[in-house]
Amino acid sequence: MATRDEILRELGLAPAWRRRASGTAGATDAADVVARSVAPGIVTVEDPSARRARIATLDWDALDADIAACTACPLCRSRKRTVPGVGDRAAEWLFVGEGPGAEEDVKGEPFVGQAGKLLDSMLAAIGMSRGDRVYIANVVKCRPPNNRTPEPGEAEACRPYLERQIALLKPGLIVALGKSAASLLLKTDASIASLRGRRHRYGDTPLVVTYHPAYLLRSLPEKAKAWEDLLFARRTASSGPPPTPPVA
Ligand code: URA
Repeated sequence: MATRDEILRELGLAPAWRRRASGTAGATDAADVVARSVAPGIVTVEDPSARRARIATLDWDALDADIAACTACPLCRSRKRTVPGVGDRAAEWLFVGEGPGAEEDVKGEPFVGQAGKLLDSMLAAIGMSRGDRVYIANVVKCRPPNNRTPEPGEAEACRPYLERQIALLKPGLIVALGKSAASLLLKTDASIASLRGRRHRYGDTPLVVTYHPAYLLRSLPEKAKAWEDLLFARRTASSGPPPTPPVA
């Protein structure tokens, strides 16, 4: 079994360590450790719940800056740029994808490649565009190597950023694009096929699920289903907040 030092080295957190000020819960296990560079060669250890609480207070600019400096998971080591999100900060709809690809990694903007072109066409088809009433973000803000699916630990490390984006946006509707977004937001391992066509909730916000545009590029017959999903999303958005389930 790897030692703590080996795991920390693997996460790119060596060589120098400094505990946060007393009062912060101590990190004893690498899985519980989140690190933030404060200067070359010096890294602070931040307890995950303290980190979540801190991120939950950030405004948009501070959030973007925090993401740009993030070293909470190994994806930071191979990224060119962080990709926080793009769009209208007063958006009614939030689209959540998986993670940046090669072009997004270079440009620092989500969905600028082929999948992005398809997403833009889908938005145009329902009279929307990425700068207008729409915000687009991803589960992870750094590109996974070779465009692989983000690991659960990477998605979890990035979760506070998406949560903060949702809290700042207060969208009327969230559209989860593909399995990574649906799994993270709904805490389920269910398939997209079984989740689409239903009105879910993320807290008080209605959420619908559809296929990821990159998948649609490979499976053209599913495009018709994605179109149905967008129409369903529009109906969901215009029908107001979802009813609160009765207390048992
Ligand atoms: N796929 C995603 O999920 N997000 C992007 O930003 C680009 C491709």
